[in-house]
Amino acid sequence: MIEVVQGDITALAVDAIVNAANTALLGGGGVDGAIHRAAGPQLLAASRALGGCPTGEAKLTPGFRLPARWVIHVVGPLWRGGRHGEPALLENGYRRSFELALEQEARSIAFPAISTGVYGYPKRQAACVAVGVMREYEPRFERIVACCFSADDARLYQEVLERGVPGDETPEDAPESGP
Ligand code: ADP
Repeated sequence: MIEVVQGDITALAVDAIVNAANTALLGGGGVDGAIHRAAGPQLLAASRALGGCPTGEAKLTPGFRLPARWVIHVVGPLWRGGRHGEPALLENGYRRSFELALEQEARSIAFPAISTGVYGYPKRQAACVAVGVMREYEPRFERIVACCFSADDARLYQEVLERGVPGDETPEDAPESGP
């Protein structure tokens, strides 16, 4: 099941939360800062030991003081106009996060809207990428949460979930094939 939740991802009691990190994995602003504050200083020590992470990849640490057991640190692409491989990198980031969660046998996972803050990825396009990969992994999880910080973002995700991702037609909304 995919569900949209509006609020702070650090409060969610799921097996794994995903952090929109940067390549250094040493903390930052936005959701990254919030996760480090809530998890406590052990998270920084654990992240430092990982030695960074390339864009489009993900790495895992414990959640320390968080209700979540694991934090999956993913580095989304910085938006540079869309012709620098951003969609593939974002998609890979979601996919790698799910794969790491499955390795730990996580059954529930929550994602922020990766790359849509300071990294500037257009929100609707990012939501389509996110929902597309979430649909792929939906059968393998009990709960997939799209955690949106703002009400506007939550509405956008809800809309993308209801309408479907372009190019991802379900039989119900596929055009009828005439004789
Ligand atoms: P990026 O550098 O990948 O763009 P940001 O942290 O700047 O990462 O923003 C990613 C998204 O996370 C934005 O939509 C932002 O509103 C959201 N966000 C910020 N703080 C939180 C939080 N505590 N919980 C959930 N989402 C958050």
